[in-house]
Amino acid sequence: MATVLITGGAGFIGSHTCLVLLQAGHRLVILDDFSNSSPRAVERLAELAGLIPTGPGSWGDALRLVQGDIRHDHSLDLAFAAAQSSGPAGLDAPVEAVIHFAGLKAVGESVAEPLRYWDVNLHGSRTLLEAMERHSCRCLVFSSSATLYGYPETVPIPETAPVQPINPYGHTKAAVEMLLADVAGCGAGATAEMESPNGWRIARLRYFNPVGAHPSGQIGEDPDGIPNNLFPFVSQVAVGRRPSLRVFGSDWPTPDGTGVRDYIHVMDLAEGHRMALEALLAEEPQLLTLNLGSGRGISVLEVARAFEAASGRPIPVELVARRPGDAAVTVADPALAARRLGWRTQLGLDAICRDGWAWQSANPHGYAA
Ligand code: NAD
Ligand code: UDP
Repeated sequence: MATVLITGGAGFIGSHTCLVLLQAGHRLVILDDFSNSSPRAVERLAELAGLIPTGPGSWGDALRLVQGDIRHDHSLDLAFAAAQSSGPAGLDAPVEAVIHFAGLKAVGESVAEPLRYWDVNLHGSRTLLEAMERHSCRCLVFSSSATLYGYPETVPIPETAPVQPINPYGHTKAAVEMLLADVAGCGAGATAEMESPNGWRIARLRYFNPVGAHPSGQIGEDPDGIPNNLFPFVSQVAVGRRPSLRVFGSDWPTPDGTGVRDYIHVMDLAEGHRMALEALLAEEPQLLTLNLGSGRGISVLEVARAFEAASGRPIPVELVARRPGDAAVTVADPALAARRLGWRTQLGLDAICRDGWAWQSANPHGYAA
């Protein structure tokens, strides 16, 4: 059992990961500024974990919630203190590891506002690393992304594929990956598995397409405004918030002409974080870089049909032009995560759609309802 600081723990992937970690017996401090999430997500995940609130932002000796910005030293110090302090204010145990989800993630927005993306994603990560040094914590799991691979040359994509992002969001993720390699003492030419001469334990997890929700339908993805991503858009069509799905390109070199991605159930992804965290804490200092994906490709039309079946609602589709910047096929080679962590996805497209619909149908307007 470890005490873990989770930045961005109220967000989509963070909230599911917090639940899995609490159920495994870990103690957590969540630091989030709620710029893209709601405190309700934390209340709900705590309830799902069977925790009883013991005060504002406080659930016994298991969970603390701190509202603050990762770019601010005092917020980070408050979060570390919330772990270490004894009595009702704290968990009475220093932070042993950090899972760093907090950041901005919308590709289009990153093109329009590159400085904000570099500030939150890179400066925020650097500020966090400095706070970790201050508090003698050298174990970090970082949310990286398959967006690093840009237009992949080989599919399925191994971790050794070139890092060649094609938008500002991807550039910030690549920059943080390089920063982490330097902090670990591994240099920019780091390979997927390296010892850290600087005594750091770091996992850079490159997610493919995280989707779905907890099967209870109590927590899930709650995007602001019109969703850019396929799954939240399809869910909103099913629930009647949008009239139809625009399919971006039907002339890709794929079996049905529509784009192919590696969709991964967020509960599988959450398990991947737990396993990476526990491996880092148990093993010698190292820098580990892992794809988290299923290894299976699914097309846009397959998603629409599967969601129709799961929801019993029609998903009208409209075939339109390709979206600029899209790749035809992005699929992970997940062999290294299987070998290093024993992790592989357990849940397929049907479970993804079933659980995504459980969330969307119970919460048609997300946490705002
Ligand atoms: P999300 O927006 O739901 O969660 C991010 C959380 O960080 C939110 O709760 C937000 O309020 C918080 N946050 C943002 N800026 C902050 C700041 N300055 N200080 C404190 N908190 C802040 O996103 P998500 O989908 O859960 O993604 C989590 C991480 O995974 C991100 O780093 C994202 O780039 C990465 N990632 C996501 C995907 C995806 O498709 N969802 C894919 C690959 C990588
Ligand atoms: N897509 C689509 N219509 C939408 C949103 C996405 O056809 O409204 C397609 C997109 O072109 C891609 C796939 O769905 O082929 C997944 O897109 P998403 O944005 O979810 O993930 P990413 O492209 O970042 O992998």
